[in-house]
Amino acid sequence: MNQLQGSCLCGGVRYRAALPVSHASHCYCTMCQKQHGAAAGSYANVASAGFAIEQGAHLITEYVSSDEGRRGFCRECGANIFWRSTRSPDRIAITLGTLEPEYAGPVQRELHTDAKPAWLPHA
Ligand SMILES: [Zn+2]
Ligand SMILES: [Zn+2]
Repeated sequence: MNQLQGSCLCGGVRYRAALPVSHASHCYCTMCQKQHGAAAGSYANVASAGFAIEQGAHLITEYVSSDEGRRGFCRECGANIFWRSTRSPDRIAITLGTLEPEYAGPVQRELHTDAKPAWLPHA
């Protein structure tokens, strides 16, 4: 398989992204925690040129979370689809949890670990 595929919770949005993934990450920043309602936002960083919304582009709302941050989600079901920065328009970070099949690659980076919540289970 030479690409990743994913969809939102309601199935209205479907996308694909060309490989390779430059890196995958868990981001523990407080904005990711708020948006995902979880300990982290988990992402695969890919080239934006290879990213395409195949279905449901009209359902995607982009929340402007900072000067450069844009967080795309499905307005029907609330699923977070991607994060991108206007400072690096050539890259886009797609959410690991929306990938189908399940993401099989490694997660190389943990970001903003200073904000990692204490209620995460410890290995
Ligand atoms: Zn949806
Ligand atoms: Zn974050």
